[in-house]
Amino acid sequence: MKPELNSPELARFWERLAGAPQRVLMLDYDGTLAPFRVERDHAFPYPGVREALDRILAGRTSRLVLVSGRWTKDLIPLLGLRELPEIWGCHGLERLFPDGRYEIAPMDERSVQALAEADHWAEAQGWGERCEAKPGSIALHWRGLAPAEQEALSRQFREAWAVRGPASGLELHDFDGGLELRAPGRNKGDAVETILAEAGPEAAAAYLGDDLTDEDAFGAIRGRGLSVLVREQWRETAAELWLRPPGELVEWLNQWARGCAGRV
Ligand SMILES: [Mg+2]
Repeated sequence: MKPELNSPELARFWERLAGAPQRVLMLDYDGTLAPFRVERDHAFPYPGVREALDRILAGRTSRLVLVSGRWTKDLIPLLGLRELPEIWGCHGLERLFPDGRYEIAPMDERSVQALAEADHWAEAQGWGERCEAKPGSIALHWRGLAPAEQEALSRQFREAWAVRGPASGLELHDFDGGLELRAPGRNKGDAVETILAEAGPEAAAAYLGDDLTDEDAFGAIRGRGLSVLVREQWRETAAELWLRPPGELVEWLNQWARGCAGRV
């Protein structure tokens, strides 16, 4: 069932936001705040998103957190915000605080070795250009290829991985636009769990995301905050609300900013 934009639940959420002692807004980046681009280093936010996020940050009444599959160092140049929010990168493996403190979860030696081998293997298959290596994972991107080529690449990757994969200990995940090999451990749901635990039960919280990797986060926030699927096309999801970017998304972010200022 598609969740409604103007649902009574959303109206209740805005009321709760206005009166909450703490507010936490968690946002995925690619596909949520920014349109997909084949040149991944050109995936800048939709028009209006920066302005809305700058308002929320300047208001100082919300904790704004980006939760992305990207490496934080690759995400920061794209944001273009007046001040840096808290960022969890690499699906929650990394955490960069607004004051510059940086944490990265330790990885076991087996995963480090398996990722290095997978990187070499992908390179040998001729996929080097399409591979994004980052802490804890390697993503194979096929956005920009014709559907038949995507299909062939996916099949080739999966067949090869069926032989090599089980011994590596790495996990194979689908995402919108490719496949990812990931060291087991953290996912976006773990990041949301940590953030919500820090914020406490009285906080008004929301998580916005578009991809399959965001479903862990939607599950983690269930019953404790609002989960929002941001996507042009509807798909089955655990999220409670659906927004189409950029118009509905920007309006929703501006509503958050107004709500925090007591103007629901
Ligand atoms: Mg995304």
